[in-house]
Order: sequence, then structure tokens, then C-alpha cells
Amino acid sequence: MNIIVQKYGGSSVGTTEKIKRVAEEIKKSKEESNEIVVIVSAMGDTTDELLELAGAVTNKPDSRELDMLLNTGEQVSIALLTMALQDLGCKAVSLTGAQLHLETTSSHQKARIKDIDLSRIKKELNQGRIVVVAGFQGVTDDEEYTTLGRGGSDTSAVALAAKLDARCEIYTDVEGIYTCDPRLLPGAKKLNHTSYEELIEMASLGAEVIHPRAVELAQKYQVPLYIAESCSKAEGTIINGNIDYLEASLVTGIAVNRDDIQITLRDLEADSYILAEVFNSLAEAEINVDMISQLLDKSGRMNLSFTIPEMDIEKARELIAFYRKDWGVSDWWIRSEVVKVSVVGPGMRTQPGVAAKVFKLLAQSEIPILMVTTSEIKISWLVPAGYEEEAVKVIGYNFGLTLEKD
Ligand code: ASP
Ligand code: MG
Repeated sequence: MNIIVQKYGGSSVGTTEKIKRVAEEIKKSKEESNEIVVIVSAMGDTTDELLELAGAVTNKPDSRELDMLLNTGEQVSIALLTMALQDLGCKAVSLTGAQLHLETTSSHQKARIKDIDLSRIKKELNQGRIVVVAGFQGVTDDEEYTTLGRGGSDTSAVALAAKLDARCEIYTDVEGIYTCDPRLLPGAKKLNHTSYEELIEMASLGAEVIHPRAVELAQKYQVPLYIAESCSKAEGTIINGNIDYLEASLVTGIAVNRDDIQITLRDLEADSYILAEVFNSLAEAEINVDMISQLLDKSGRMNLSFTIPEMDIEKARELIAFYRKDWGVSDWWIRSEVVKVSVVGPGMRTQPGVAAKVFKLLAQSEIPILMVTTSEIKISWLVPAGYEEEAVKVIGYNFGLTLEKD
């Protein structure tokens, strides 16, 4: 029989009504003679609410205890979904990450998957059950509960699909992958098909439909992905294979990311070792740096700006306060009202001029630019918050990312 892994995100199981509807969908897939493994996220905003609860008790929650708390979110949704399936006459069982032995590293809230023991899942599938697995959860080899990081259920789903050699269907609250978030770019087109590479770029830039780590994993193990709206007949987006450069579009999409902040350090000694130390200490604190720009001034000192996730702001503050004397930083600041607008397109690799055209469009719209980075198939601009909609529209309309207007 054909095994299919289906993942339903928090918004798809946000209420008991929605859970019942999802159960109907799963029942239909099961009836098409498939073996079904379902991954679910916590209901709606549960994970945020749990974090808020922790925050109301302490502003420095212990990371082990935080994972004890966060694990409860998905445990609720797997149990309810399983009950709803049973109510429809389906044989089903729910399993937590620990029951599955979804083994991870011990780094709480950022655990990485080491291996998944398939014996329990196989046993349940063989008995004709639908297996409902808690996304996001893992367990260490000494039985400590972990979580995979925000949005981690996508990674759970793809990892399971890879192990089971199955196709992975991600059900969410939008119809698939769009050239841009239609809330920002009215008329944005839905893509019927795209490559792992393009989706990795779009997702890591904050396209929000699927976690980039999950797409990387899918690419690594060549897991076919299908992203679609839950409980809808609309055709979703198929993701498999790599970019076909002959057919590639100049620009595939635009992504907007509001999760980063910009930090500027002034007057560092212009010395590569200092730079290495700055980024090394950030890496040791597990802070991911994204955009970087470094400017030398006439006196031989340098100013360094970089962006990091907003959630790491306190860690970064402490770290800079601790090291600033060693690094020679005279002054530093954080700019949190920033947005990164990125243009992704495989055609950039072979055809020049995309950057030039975007710079011109941004200039014509008087959009200030704080930082720029480029890679093979992507260019990103950091702009002050509030300018992103204008930027997206002007780029989207000029690169044909919207449906034709008639
Ligand atoms: N519930 C977790 C979160 O909100 C995991 C997920 O939804 O993927 O981040
Ligand atoms: Mg998600």
C-alpha cells in the first residue's frame, strides 16, 4: 500500500469544528486505499499562548521546562483529531514524539532530529490504523522532551515522509505557494509547480507557508511535497526536482520578512580577527546572522551592521554589552522597525539587470534602502518598516507576478 504523510498546521486545526472537517478529509484519503500518517500542529495560537503563560510566571523560563510546557500543545490536537477520526468509524491512534522515539539533540527549543524509530508506526499501520503524530516534538536519548523550533511540525512531517519513503502533503490555510503573499500583493499568482531551491529561498525569506528547514530536508531526501489548502478542492503547488534553467522565470516571487532586527556596531578596529570574533560569539550563542554590511571609515575604524532574528534580541544585547570593550565598539544600536524585501528568481543567474531594475523602481518610489545582499538566485533589500507594501507592489507589477488585468 501507498503511505502518505499529511500535515495539518495550527490554523487548519484551530477549532474543534475544523478538527472534525480535517478528520473527514483524512478519512477520504484513507478510503482511497492509502496508509495515512498525519502530523498535526497545536491548535491555532496555542504555542504562542503557552509561551505567554511562561512569560507571565518568569521572564527567564528554564528551557527544559519550556519544552515540557510546549509539548502539551500538540498533545491536545493529536488526541482530539484521533477522537474525531474514531467518531467517523476510522481506526486511529495518536502518538507523541516521545512515544515515537523521534530522537533529537538535547538543545531545547532548537532540537535537531537524529533518527526516527519506525517500528511503532509500522505496527499501527499494519493493524489498519491511521497514525496521528504530534509535530514539533522530540525526545533525547535520556528521555528528555524537546521541541524542534517554531514551525517545527513541517520538519517533523518531512522527516517522517523521508523515513517512510512517502509523499508529504502539507495542508495549510492558503491554496499553495504564491508569487507573493496576496495580502501584500493583490492579484499575486499561485504557482502550480516549483523547485526545492526556489521554495527554500522563498520560505527562508518568510513566505510562511512552510518552514525552510523542512524544504531543505525534502530536497536532501528528494521527498515530493504538495502544499495545498486544507479541506479545499483547489489545486495546490507541487514541489519536486531542481531548477530547470532553460525554462526558469526571471523572477519567481517576492518575500517579505518582518522577523529580523538590525544591529549596528560603531568604531570597531578594522581587523578581520575582530570580525571573526564578533560572528563567532554570535554563532556560539546560537544567534543566526542574516544580512551583513561592513563599512570602513577614513580613520581605519569600521562600522558593522547585521541582522538577526528579533527573538534573539536579549541574547545579542547581553553579548554585546559583555564584549564591546574587547571589540572596541564605541557606540551601538538596534533598529527593530525594519523589513526585508527579497526578490527570488533563477533567471537572475543567467540574465543581468534584475538588481538594477529593482533599485530604479525603489528609487522612483522613494523607498529608503538600509542594506542589500545578493546571492545566486536572490536579492534582498532591508527597508524601514512601513515601506514594504509599496516595494512589493512596484516590484510585483513590473515583473509580471500578478494575474493579467483586463
Ligand atoms: N506549534 C508549533 C509552533 O507554533 C509548531 C508548528 O506549528 O509547526 O511553532
Ligand atoms: Mg506552520
